[in-house]
Amino acid sequence: MCKKDHSIYSCPSFLELSPGDRLNRVRKINACTNCLRQGHTVKDCKSKFTCRKCSNRRISLLHINKNNTNEDISRTTNTIQICRFAISSKSTSTC
Ligand SMILES: [Zn+2]
Ligand SMILES: [Zn+2]
Ligand SMILES: [Zn+2]
Repeated sequence: MCKKDHSIYSCPSFLELSPGDRLNRVRKINACTNCLRQGHTVKDCKSKFTCRKCSNRRISLLHINKNNTNEDISRTTNTIQICRFAISSKSTSTC
């Protein structure tokens, strides 16, 4: 995560990410999505923790709110707007 001496779930740069980005990070470092420790997967997780919000075997920090799916949509919209801007400002566009 970062080079400071703390665990991933107390890392400010991890906590400021959206749950989806956190999940990507956790998967990238092959950590368990239930306890955020490395060296095992959630299937082998001995932790009794479950998500406080939906009781899935996934730490609450990685809980993705189903009502909160507009993040990806707004990103896509931004990309489209940038592309349109590029097209209108330059006649040749790489978009
Ligand atoms: Zn950190
Ligand atoms: Zn685990
Ligand atoms: Zn959950």
